[in-house]
Amino acid sequence: NLVYLNGEYLPLTEAKVSVLDRGFLFGDGVYEVIPVYGGRPFRLDEHLRRLDNSLRGIRMTNPLSDDRWAEIFGRLITGTHDQYLYLQVTRGAAPKRDHAIPDEVNPTVFVMCSPIAPIPIHGVRAITLDDIRWQWCHIKAITLLANVLLRQEAVDRGAAEAILVRDGWVTEGAASNVFAVIDGVLITPPKGNDLLPGITRDLVLELALENDVSAAERHIRIDELKGAAEIWLTSSTREILPVIELDGIPVGNGRPGPLWSQMQAVYQAYKQRLRTA
Ligand code: PMP
Repeated sequence: NLVYLNGEYLPLTEAKVSVLDRGFLFGDGVYEVIPVYGGRPFRLDEHLRRLDNSLRGIRMTNPLSDDRWAEIFGRLITGTHDQYLYLQVTRGAAPKRDHAIPDEVNPTVFVMCSPIAPIPIHGVRAITLDDIRWQWCHIKAITLLANVLLRQEAVDRGAAEAILVRDGWVTEGAASNVFAVIDGVLITPPKGNDLLPGITRDLVLELALENDVSAAERHIRIDELKGAAEIWLTSSTREILPVIELDGIPVGNGRPGPLWSQMQAVYQAYKQRLRTA
């Protein structure tokens, strides 16, 4: 099981980066997580375009062409089970520790492929927490300290995810986007600097449109979320995850809702089409 690091393929335990790497010192870098079904990266173009945007957001350019990325992914993917590619680009190792960006520095590029853990489709508990992150959440930055602390707070309280709230408005999960069924309409907050433009989120909206599910992108107040008939979390590795309890109170009847069942079926069918295409 090999990983890719700066042009080389080597065992995970032999992949080493400098302690002067700005990813290590400052969290100065970005990443992507790309699901792989049937041996093929899922929604690859969308992930690579988001990578471009994240890099541009931190004043970097993409170190590799799309073809080169695809070639690396192809070498790391083994078998046809569900897995995911994790890629990370940091600004690289500078000669000395200085916040300002050095003129000459080569990015560090790391990619690994891992199996996707089973998804708890019977539903999970979530809690709401104050969104303490920075204001550029549209960048998929490796600087994840706030997300780490928020997720741990959720785990400490017996929940799988923290749903984040900024000034009374729902933004997203600590590592997922949020959907809610309110008055029969599937709602998710609009894209902006306060949330990551999730690839799964976009696909769910696309599939809703194709299947005549009434959906809208608009801001959700915390009290609306608490009264929602259904709440879902979406992400590349957890697909569409129903939330069955929010802050200790059952969502709907405390089981995954009917619209979730419908979208779950549509989503799985879409994945299956791709697996066998
Ligand atoms: N928001 C945040 C903060 C995330 O970390 C993630 C997943 N890494 C998402 C949303 C979901 O994005 P995607 O569907 O592209 O995995």
